[in-house]
Amino acid sequence: MSFELPKLDYSYNALEPYIDARTMEIHYTKHHAAYTSKLNDAVNGTALEGKTIFELFRSVSSLSPAIRNNGGGFYNHSLFWKVLSPNGGAPKGDLLSAINTSFGSFDKFKAEFSNAAATRFGSGWAWLVKTGNGLVVSSTPNQDNPLMDVAEVKGTPILGLDVWEHAYYLNYQNRRPDYIEAFWNIVNWEEVSKRFIS
Ligand code: MN
Repeated sequence: MSFELPKLDYSYNALEPYIDARTMEIHYTKHHAAYTSKLNDAVNGTALEGKTIFELFRSVSSLSPAIRNNGGGFYNHSLFWKVLSPNGGAPKGDLLSAINTSFGSFDKFKAEFSNAAATRFGSGWAWLVKTGNGLVVSSTPNQDNPLMDVAEVKGTPILGLDVWEHAYYLNYQNRRPDYIEAFWNIVNWEEVSKRFIS
């Protein structure tokens, strides 16, 4: 049993002008594909073969860096593509209520998330995390995520933003804040809602 690169639900140019087609294509066919195949290389033929990605994350501190980095890369990008959509919109219903309860308002949530993404030093991710204590914004370095036993904030990530330079440099160069601002136009809030209630 191997981990498989999931199919994209949209074409490489679907998220333009916010994310350009060339970045999407390289990000998916090179970066995400490489994390996936390197994860398989690290797991196949070992005692870990057949474990779910969630099982690996739960004890990732005791596993090899290859599994931590490539397992995270495999899962994080699988989530990332799903929470993006050409038809953005806004959160509603129970998710919006939970955002209001945890952050005061959608705008306050957005500011906190954007700040987490902008201030993550070097490579990493910003997250909206479902925890036992409501919704929380966090960020993680490299390809870590809130499902890992090493994460400062643990819980279920329901929205993530990749702030590695490979995610934005072709179009935005060093202007990470512009990329973060653009991201808000293409969040798939229906998918985030699904992950919130499941
Ligand atoms: Mn990436």
